[in-house]
Formats: sequence, C-alpha cells, structure tokens
Amino acid sequence: MTSAHTAARVAAPTGYPERAAVAEFFTAQAGELDRGGCDVRPGLRFLGELGLLGLGAPDNAGDELATMLLVVEDVAASCMSSGFSLWAQRMVVEYLARGATGPELDGELAALRDGSRIGVTAMAPAMKHVAGLEPVPVIAERTADGVRLDGPIRWASNLFDDALVVVPARFADGGGLIAVLRIDDPGVTVHDAPELLALGGTRSSSATLTGVEVPAEHVLSEDLTGFVRSVRPTFLLVQSAFCAGLAGASRRCSAELLDGLNAEFGADFAELATDHDSVRARLFDFARAPHRPSAADLLRLRLDAARVAGAATRLESAVTGGRGYVATSATSRRLREAAFLPIQAPTEGQLRWELSRSA
Ligand SMILES: Cc1cc2nc3c(=O)[nH]c(=O)nc-3n(C[C@H](O)[C@H](O)[C@H](O)COP(=O)(O)OP(=O)(O)OC[C@H]3O[C@@H](n4cnc5c(N)ncnc54)[C@H](O)[C@@H]3O)c2cc1C
Repeated sequence: MTSAHTAARVAAPTGYPERAAVAEFFTAQAGELDRGGCDVRPGLRFLGELGLLGLGAPDNAGDELATMLLVVEDVAASCMSSGFSLWAQRMVVEYLARGATGPELDGELAALRDGSRIGVTAMAPAMKHVAGLEPVPVIAERTADGVRLDGPIRWASNLFDDALVVVPARFADGGGLIAVLRIDDPGVTVHDAPELLALGGTRSSSATLTGVEVPAEHVLSEDLTGFVRSVRPTFLLVQSAFCAGLAGASRRCSAELLDGLNAEFGADFAELATDHDSVRARLFDFARAPHRPSAADLLRLRLDAARVAGAATRLESAVTGGRGYVATSATSRRLREAAFLPIQAPTEGQLRWELSRSA
C-alpha cells in the first residue's frame, strides 16, 4: 500500500469547534450501543444539533467535505456503529441536496441535516448495477403521477420507523431511477433485524416493497448511472473516513503497548502507521476536489482503508492479549466492527474486480 501521498503528506483539517464534545459523547456510549442497550439515533440527533450532519453537501460545498470526513473519522474512532450510521445519514443528505427537489423534499433535507429525520441509503445494488455486476432488484412501473415500486431491499441500515429511504429501481424495459420513500409508506415491510456480529445498534435489516406508490416529485433522478457516478466520490470518501477512524483508534491503542515482548511487533506497527498515514493523506487530499481523482484511485483508497482497519484491529488484539478478548472490551468490539468492512458495498470482492478491470 504505497503512494506518493505517503511522502507528500496532505494535512487533515485542523479540527472543528465541537471536536472534544463529539469524542466524549461517542466514547461514552460505545459500549452500551455495542451491547444493544441503545441505538444510533441520539448520536445522529446530537451531531444534527451541532450542525455536523451535512458539511460539504453536495460535492464539497463550502469546501467543507474534508471537515465532514474528520467528523466521520472521529465518530468511528469512538464508535464504529455510529460512524457507519453517520455515513448513511450523510449520504442521504448528499442525494437530496443533489437531486431535483420540491418543497416537501426540501423540508426533508432540512430535517435530515438537523437529525430529526433519519436517512437510509439502500444504494448497494446501484453500485453493483453501474459496475455491470447485477441489475438492481426493485422494479418500477409508471403510474399516472409517478412510479410504483416492487422488490426487495436485501440490506440497509438506519431502518427506524419513520426513516426516509433512498432506493434505486429499474423499469422492466430498461432505464432506471432513484426514488425517495418513507418506511411508513403503505407497501413497505421492514423485516425483523437479525442478530449481528457487531453494529447491532444500527437497525440493519432487509425490507420488501410491495406496490409502493412514489409521486414524481420524489424521484430524484431517472439517470441511475449518472446519479451513481455523481455521488460515488463522496460515497467512497465517507466510507474510507470511517475505516480510517477505526484504524486510528486501534493504532493509538497499539502504540501504547509496544514494549517488552511486544517489541516484536515494531515492524508491523511501522508498516501499519505508514499505510494509515497514506490512507489519511489521500482521503483529505481527494476531499478538496472529489471529482478530480480517477475512479480507480477512489476505489483503491476505499480498499486500502478497509484493509488498514482490518490490520490495525488485528495488531491491537495481538498486543493487548487476553483482556482484549473479553467480549465487552473495546479491542474485541473493534475487531468485530472491522469484520464488516470487507462485506460492505462496494465489497472487497467488487473493489478487487473493478480495480483488476481498470488496470
Ligand atoms: C450489517 C449490514 C449493514 C448494511 N447496511 C447497508 C446499507 O445501509 N446500505 C446498503 O446499501 N447496503 C447495506 N448493506 C449491504 C452491504 O453493503 C453489502 O451489499 C452486502 O453486505 C453484501 O453482501 P451480500 O450477501 O449481498 O453479498 P453479495 O454482494 O451477494 O456477494 C456475496 C459473494 O458473492 C460474490 N459476488 C458478488 N456479486 C457477484 C457476481 N455478480 N458474480 C460472482 N460473484 C459475486 C461476492 O464477492 C461475495 O463473495 C449492509 C450489510 C450488512 C451486513
């Protein structure tokens, strides 16, 4: 994992005024959230009240995407469940800020930004669709005033009672669209959430759409491919930010434990530090002009970020020893959280596949 960015470090933003409060809030609730004692909604509401949910949306607006990534990194370093839900929320802000909206969706966008409305991004199938791997499973049919949707949402997070969902669909005779609906719309069935290895507080599950009526003004775009390409840099950068945050937490923990027998891990730690620095340098560089890096550079960053988080949590586990294997420890929580990263869309399989074709 080498890059010119390793040598030419690009500085992360210096911070934001509420940084200490953010770290304190999410560190305090991480254990309870992991054990299922609460969910991610209070954290999103807290960030919304601080005005930190929509920084840089859309497309690095106000030159604030780098600060948004720093917020995501900080939250994920304390609590990856919250960092992941924040990604979902921030992406739904991005979709609405970019898509054509009327007064109703403008109101929803304001509520998403202040955390009073929770956002669901059911866009993993759109990523596969645009990569040419598999068509999106939800089928759209035109009606007098919009479209009717039928089909499965196989996985999505933040599936809370009145959340706003952004979902891709396709017409049987070709063409696609991006639609906005609400979990409490007639025809939306959310299935019981399965027990997960981690991220249990994110209300991640599946749903079925049966004859869901979507008015024309809730169709964000009828250019599925164009829409996905336009949001993909932010999508990948925010994902890379929560990977970098998780890696950073494990790195800081390991750095304290490298003496005695653990001096054996010195070279591993040095390699990890180099890789993590490289990820962060690219992350904050790309954030300043998200459409400038090539698709391959963004995919490589996302792959490297997930890998460095996996490596960092494994090293933390090795140098922490038995107390890190206690189920309630932060070390074991981070190990379980990192196990999610290779299977989050774009999955490690998809990233490798796309990169092998862009070489
Ligand atoms: C806890 C959790 C939360 C999630 N939250 C969200 C969310 O908020 N939003 C969202 O959009 N998604 C979400 N997802 C879905 C996630 O992003 C991935 O899409 C999903 O985990 C991929 O798992 P899958 O079983 O669908 O795998 P698949 O994509 O079906 O892949 C299964 C295996 O088949 C391989 N494979 C995939 N496609 C092909 C192909 N065409 N040909 C051959 N092999 C192939 C893969 O490499 C993999 O090994 C979530 C998933 C989980 C587990």
